[in-house]
Amino acid sequence: MRKTNSYRERIAKRLTWVIALIVLIVFVVIYLVVNFTIIQNSDKTLLAEAEKHLKEISLVDGVLIFSHKDEWEEAEHAEIQLNPIFIEIVDVQGKTMDRSPNLKEKHLTFLTDRSMREDALTLEIGNEEVRQMQIPLRNKGEVEGYLLLATSFEDSRHLLSNLLKILLFFYPAILISIFLTMRYLVGKSIEPIQEITAITNRITQKNLNERVLLTEQNDEIGQLASSINELLSRLEQALTREKQFTSDASHELRTPLAVLRGTLEVLIRKPRTSEEYESKIQTALQSIDRMSEMIEQLLVLARVGRFSSSDYITVDLLDFAQSFSKKMSGDYAREINFETNLSLPLELEVNTKSLQMILTNLLQNSIKYSEQDSVIVIRVGIHQGMPFITVEDEGVGIESESLDRIFDPFFRETQLLEKPVPGTGLGLAIVRKLALESGISVDVESRKGMGSVFRLIFQEKI
Ligand code: ADP
Repeated sequence: MRKTNSYRERIAKRLTWVIALIVLIVFVVIYLVVNFTIIQNSDKTLLAEAEKHLKEISLVDGVLIFSHKDEWEEAEHAEIQLNPIFIEIVDVQGKTMDRSPNLKEKHLTFLTDRSMREDALTLEIGNEEVRQMQIPLRNKGEVEGYLLLATSFEDSRHLLSNLLKILLFFYPAILISIFLTMRYLVGKSIEPIQEITAITNRITQKNLNERVLLTEQNDEIGQLASSINELLSRLEQALTREKQFTSDASHELRTPLAVLRGTLEVLIRKPRTSEEYESKIQTALQSIDRMSEMIEQLLVLARVGRFSSSDYITVDLLDFAQSFSKKMSGDYAREINFETNLSLPLELEVNTKSLQMILTNLLQNSIKYSEQDSVIVIRVGIHQGMPFITVEDEGVGIESESLDRIFDPFFRETQLLEKPVPGTGLGLAIVRKLALESGISVDVESRKGMGSVFRLIFQEKI
């Protein structure tokens, strides 16, 4: 639980950092744009004012001439206005020649190093901040003085500092509220995960049938929930199979043990003839053989999956199947034919040990469940680009409703047979497990009384 919370904090912090950076950039841009616009506006006013006055005044041999002195003394330069324009005319040394009355005793600053620059700059006169422009006055191309114009920057500075204060106040406020919102939202969105964790923590072997609640949405969390549910289903099935297997195995072993015990008990009850002893001991030996065979097969089943990668080698499937048929035909004294419509070698990388065991099991079944004089065929071919091997017999066949179950451990259909066929019901379970391991799929086609075809399909396109 603690981990999930820290995840929530972590995500909220990361998002807040990112947003903090974005908001900071936005705030800086806002401040700079406002600053730039204010300066530009006041510079525009200064320029317009300068253009107007430049028409009215001229300097001839150091003497100041006004074309409309009356306008020059108009109210705007005389009174203290909301946005007054201060004007001062200086000679090349910066000595005052004339200045607007609103300057009172103050003077505008003449900057010798900016004598040829007409752009405005921010300065201070007295304790007041102004934007000032310095424009050369020429007479026949010669600079004879300068027109200095200035406008108060106090209101603008006030506005800018207010804006800065607002931005600085809102910045942490925004960040705190974003962090808290994020933490809440992330917490909300991981709630289903916490629920899933709680349920999965609760699930043990005893309540494997419980499932995680599926959310409506088919989002990542919904997919996680359904994946966990599928995993639980698989686990439940595996556990059920395991339980079934253990109970079947004990049951199957108990039967021959019971026969053995019964036979021996009958034997010791009273003295018997030697023929009776022989027959009963034969029965006891059969029970022991059956148990040995079953234990042997159970061990094989348990060992499946212990093949090493060195067991995988490239073989010609035609050659492999042909020599296998020949050998088995000799071993079991049965007619086993090899057939194929392929002419070229069919090279595949296979687990030869595993394939040998699979084919042996299938072939032993074909031999067991068909008449001695019937033919068994091992066929190799390619279907839809996939190599296959089939084991075909003309034996007793399998009921269609049993086809799904013949690969289950201990399933046998022998009760339908005329004479008992020895077996444990584990052969096809071994085949299925081995095939699954080696990437081979197995299917079966069979009709009762007509025979069966077991097909191994190699999942490797040719
Ligand atoms: P077992 O042969 O020891 O009984 P298997 O697992 O090999 O066990 O086979 C399971 C069941 O499938 C058999 O009992 C039998 O009923 C049926 N079966 C398998 N192969 C064949 C076959 N070739 N022909 C008819 N039935 C078969």
